[in-house]
Amino acid sequence: MKKPVLLTPGPTPIPPEVAQKAALPILHHRTAEFGRIFTEALSGLQEVFLTQHPVYLFTCSGTGGMEAAAVNVLSPGDEAIVCETGAFGERWTKILQAYGLQPHVVKSEWGDPLDLGLVERALRDHPRTCAVFATLTDTSTTVVNDIRGLGRLVRKTEAVLVVDAVSGLAAQEFRTDEWGVDVAVSASQKGLMNAPGLAFLSVSPRAWARVETARLPRFYWDLRAVKSSAAQKETPFTPAVTLVVALHEALRLIRQEGLPAIWERHARLARATRAWLTALGLKLFSSSPSNVLTAAWLPEGITGEELIGGIRNEWGISLAGGQAKLKGRIVRFAHLGYMDQFDLVVGMSALGMALAKRGHRAPVAAGVTAVLDSLMAPVGDPPPGSGGQVLQVAPTRSG
Ligand code: PMP
Repeated sequence: MKKPVLLTPGPTPIPPEVAQKAALPILHHRTAEFGRIFTEALSGLQEVFLTQHPVYLFTCSGTGGMEAAAVNVLSPGDEAIVCETGAFGERWTKILQAYGLQPHVVKSEWGDPLDLGLVERALRDHPRTCAVFATLTDTSTTVVNDIRGLGRLVRKTEAVLVVDAVSGLAAQEFRTDEWGVDVAVSASQKGLMNAPGLAFLSVSPRAWARVETARLPRFYWDLRAVKSSAAQKETPFTPAVTLVVALHEALRLIRQEGLPAIWERHARLARATRAWLTALGLKLFSSSPSNVLTAAWLPEGITGEELIGGIRNEWGISLAGGQAKLKGRIVRFAHLGYMDQFDLVVGMSALGMALAKRGHRAPVAAGVTAVLDSLMAPVGDPPPGSGGQVLQVAPTRSG
């Protein structure tokens, strides 16, 4: 027997309550019943994005949400800055290039976070910049970026700040309004504990002013149509109704647990994962690891595809490997969304056993002890050597 376990950074497992809602008979999308669920879901999303401004929904994956953000704030010839800290930062660049724009790119080495000094310089060198694109947690490199600091810089200019929070939302601390984020993009299949297929965008008044005048081509992605339909509790086109009903339930569970508790849970799992991988003798990949997932270099002679494929085929447990230039070289272990500490122990045992089977002299028992010590440590007290950050969960003053 193989019991499928998803420990990937999207899609992530979904709670049974959410799966049950998705299995109900299909509602028609132009009915009062659907309209109520839809509008309640949109206002629930505002609570998770921590925004007073509207959040809109598209039926598409996260990348569709990114493309929608870009075409709604830009016009041909506009100057933009893209902050790249991995494959998902690069995706912003590719989207802008597909629409004929040539963004100025501020790049970090893969594994390192955004250098705000370089962004400051780019904003000085390109004073006509209309928009800055960045990533909260780049899932390819596991890096978390300082979006609060970036918001402070961008606020001094006329530019809008657009942030991909696809994997970070409802996992890593993120405050749309307080941090000066004009458009935040996320998707259903990660921290929001739902199946893939929905993307969400929050839109500040500053961003909305650009939506009204943007001249890049747009039809499906036109936020003006989405806004006017939302006023009628509808979407312009048929939405993924089952996913919206499931989203409504997932948001209820999120409200029940509370955002600070959710951020803290992810921080604890991340800390334990770092402690465990370090105890196994592996080197962590990122200098700024997020609480969404953890990556480590694989030992000499072990290739990612073979290891991860073997774990999936033999035991049904899905982990993620490296993307693009990291293919085969790292393992990425997600602790994202509907996951608790005991899920972590399952995945860790599988990885430890698989490494040992392939000749890595992994002190598996020491690794398990390191995890349990970390999980049992008082909140805010990462054990020595865990590489863990203590997460600030209390509401912070505007900055
Ligand atoms: N941005 C980030 C940070 C992501 O992790 C992902 C998905 N892995 C995306 C964007 C793209 O989302 P999708 O695959 O849903 O299009």
